[in-house]
Amino acid sequence: MNDDHTTMTQTPFEAVEGTWTKKTARLWEHRTYHRLTLSALLHTLYTATRQSKLTSALISAPGSVRRDADWWPIDNHGDTIAFTQARDAWESVDGDSREPPPDEVIATWVGEGGCFILLARRESAPGRKQLFTLENWQLSLSWDCEAAAAGVNAVTGCYPRDHSHKELFRSLASELGRRRCEPSEAVVAHIRSALSLADRIDPVTRANAEEKLWTDLVNTVQLEVAWQLYSDRLLPAIARALDATIGYEFVDIHVFNRLGSRYEEFLSWHDNRTGYGKDLDLFLDREVVKTLLESEKPRLVRMRKEDGVLNPHLAELAGLREGLLIPLVHGNSVQGMAALYFTEESELEETDLERIRRFGEIIARSLENSNAHEDMRLMARVDALTGLNNRRSFNDVIEKETHRSSRYRLPLSLILIDIDYFKKYNDSNGHLKGDYLLHDFASILKSMVREEDTVARYGGEEFAIIFPHTPASAANVAAEKIRRRVAEHEFSGMDSQPGKRLTISLGVADSDGSIEDYHELIDQADKALYRAKESGRNRAVLYSPDLASQSA
Ligand code: GH3
Ligand code: MG
Ligand code: MG
Repeated sequence: MNDDHTTMTQTPFEAVEGTWTKKTARLWEHRTYHRLTLSALLHTLYTATRQSKLTSALISAPGSVRRDADWWPIDNHGDTIAFTQARDAWESVDGDSREPPPDEVIATWVGEGGCFILLARRESAPGRKQLFTLENWQLSLSWDCEAAAAGVNAVTGCYPRDHSHKELFRSLASELGRRRCEPSEAVVAHIRSALSLADRIDPVTRANAEEKLWTDLVNTVQLEVAWQLYSDRLLPAIARALDATIGYEFVDIHVFNRLGSRYEEFLSWHDNRTGYGKDLDLFLDREVVKTLLESEKPRLVRMRKEDGVLNPHLAELAGLREGLLIPLVHGNSVQGMAALYFTEESELEETDLERIRRFGEIIARSLENSNAHEDMRLMARVDALTGLNNRRSFNDVIEKETHRSSRYRLPLSLILIDIDYFKKYNDSNGHLKGDYLLHDFASILKSMVREEDTVARYGGEEFAIIFPHTPASAANVAAEKIRRRVAEHEFSGMDSQPGKRLTISLGVADSDGSIEDYHELIDQADKALYRAKESGRNRAVLYSPDLASQSA
């Protein structure tokens, strides 16, 4: 082969190598310009084979032959004319009407890179499309078997069907290396023109295609994550977005809270394809995470201690070789980190990382939105002064609990509490002190109930406690305990209050499951509270029907 050949082969095949052997899977698929290159090449070869009655061509990437491995998976990229025709042809080969063996096989080496092209010639192919053996390795295997069986001077040897691709091509490579068939001049000419055609796809076109690719990828991320407001849906959406654009074997999404100068993880989510264990947690060194967040730039790490992976043996067991850490940061807002792990080295370049950084920004923004939304939802249910459930939240809970109580005939109790002479307190101590008192008072209430009970601020200085699964007898005991506890507590500014202490009145009501409308339960507790006030305050009164008739 002369020098001319070498230069011609380098441009398009370099491009192929740049993608198919180096980038992660998802990125390859989007690299349209390489498809253009190949398409042009194959189309020309297709024409060439038609003219010379060659029926098949097999193409490999440079370097592959020398390494006897890593053949490109052409069947993933079957959307060019040549690929489509190849698929049709091979389908028919695999069917009943088998392709007759070729008349001649020419193997040629092109360029120093070791790219070889294998062409099979057939004198006559009646009523059949010319074809490339590009589509399905299993099928091309059967074709080779047949060729050998027919004694055709093709690549010698019969390759068993269950051979792996790698093994098949290792045999092919060594066989071809030994035989070193020389191509005819016509074939070389066709190959030349194919390569130069591919070469004409200029760098600008490639750059544009690359730019478009990234715009598409950014859009994919954006569409996937932008509208997810709930973190339980957002995290899987982030994983989907990363899978659709970069691809991973294992992903770890961490969300951080800033506590002073440190970041504390408060949420993390994994997706694991390695099949190794349920949750493979690789743990990264804190320092690595910190540096990453500060630098705001994505970073590749090897699975070793020096790169901050705390348990590389786990990574090795799972076959992981490289990690891509993406800071989820936008502006001053640090939201977290996504760690993608691959079974093969991605060999992403600096420019790729710079672009992936944009993914991180978009994801960070979504996390921020989702947090703001969750804060707002919380705010809508919480009373700002006391931190207790607000009236709206109280209504939801009491409605739900009343429904459950009546449906399953479970006891349910409600206590309404009103602070005695609170106006006096405000008048003497000021409204602000009154606010402090309400806050402290709320904490006392909260500390005196079980986890499953609901304490709410019902109105200004009125509070409510819902006790699910609790009969009146127990609620009454609780009410009395609370009353005593409050009366004993040393609040400040008590000079204004009768008896120099804070007292409360409580109304208790309960249902044995017979009350269906929660308004009725509230009404009963309210009547009991009214009675407590009426009969001197600083007491708890349990509702009873005769109490209702008395007040009526
Ligand atoms: P009693 O209940 O014993 O009949 O007397 P009271 O003085 O507590 O009764 P009333 O319901 O008439 O007054 C409630 C007072 O609570 C009136 C209002 O100034 C005060 N209040 C209501 N909400 C707040 C609040 O958010 N902060 C403060 N500081 N005071 C509040
Ligand atoms: Mg009141
Ligand atoms: Mg009051």
